[in-house]
Amino acid sequence: LDPSGDHFSNEEHDIERALRPLSFGDFAGQDQILENLEVFVEAANQRGDALDHTLFHGPPGLGKTTLAHILANELGVGIKVTSGPVLDKPGDLAGLLTNLNERDVLFIDEIHRLSPIVEEYLYSAMEDYKIDIMIETGPNARTVQINLSPFTLIGATTRSGLLTAPMRARFGISSRLQYYTTELLSAIVERSAEILNVPIDQNAAIEIAGRSRGTPRIANALLRRVRDFAQIKGNGNIDLDIARFSLKALNVDAHGLDEMDNKILSTIIDKFKGGPVGLTTLSTAVSESAETIEEVYEPFLIQQGFIVRTPRGREVTEAAYKHLGRTKSASQGG
Ligand code: ADP
Repeated sequence: LDPSGDHFSNEEHDIERALRPLSFGDFAGQDQILENLEVFVEAANQRGDALDHTLFHGPPGLGKTTLAHILANELGVGIKVTSGPVLDKPGDLAGLLTNLNERDVLFIDEIHRLSPIVEEYLYSAMEDYKIDIMIETGPNARTVQINLSPFTLIGATTRSGLLTAPMRARFGISSRLQYYTTELLSAIVERSAEILNVPIDQNAAIEIAGRSRGTPRIANALLRRVRDFAQIKGNGNIDLDIARFSLKALNVDAHGLDEMDNKILSTIIDKFKGGPVGLTTLSTAVSESAETIEEVYEPFLIQQGFIVRTPRGREVTEAAYKHLGRTKSASQGG
């Protein structure tokens, strides 16, 4: 299970799409964000304007892409989807921009990974709905200015800290998505089970939800794996027993921490006496990129109170020792 979702097969992507909420009403949680967006969308619809450029930030799997699609639906417009690393030439961006209809949404995932030259190109498009494009080459080369239809750029990023200040300033709306409560996740699991047509007991849904790292994508991914166990090892129904059995087989523990979460905690305890330890050192010790640790693992471990960030590095808390069944003095002495 990869929380970033990067390694899902095509089939899993199809299922993920099928489970994606399509309207404000289908989307669970993030109440404050939704309430505001509903107002902004209604106002833009009444005026016939494009919605202001919108930035979503927060850890992977919390619904940034889903919200971009919902906004397009609620605005009644089309959406074009791309991502920062894919757009490496201004020409690619120009192609996308000139093909947008009035009020359409352009969604750029991982917008913090745009190349500086593409980013700069985006500024005038965002601000004045204009771009300069180069025509012809050699001695006849010249730039012409093209007017674009008013459009909405929706950016998503796991690392808003890496966004440049000028980029950030061009978004009129900016929302940080939060981890979900078990209650919300369990409602999401029940909704997904219904779409997948698999019967699930409420306590089983709560069990899966409680072990999903506060993340809808993980809740849905766990549900699909538990469904497999129910089908092969049980009678097709997901009850509490089969849910617990499957989650154990998948190495998902009671807090929803996965192998890497636990490896990070135990490494800080065993190799660094509980910390503090710097990110790069930790990254080498657990063989995971510093970026992934910082974007994917650490926010949840901090939110759950297992890790604190200090000026000297990362430290584990009492809760982490307890979770791993260690005592602080024994680990520090040894
Ligand atoms: P992100 O873009 O933040 O990485 P996605 O929007 O791709 O996350 O969400 C991952 C999956 O989680 C989606 O396929 C969707 O089914 C589900 N999901 C996310 N947020 C919600 C939500 N609030 N309610 C129901 N399902 C959600």
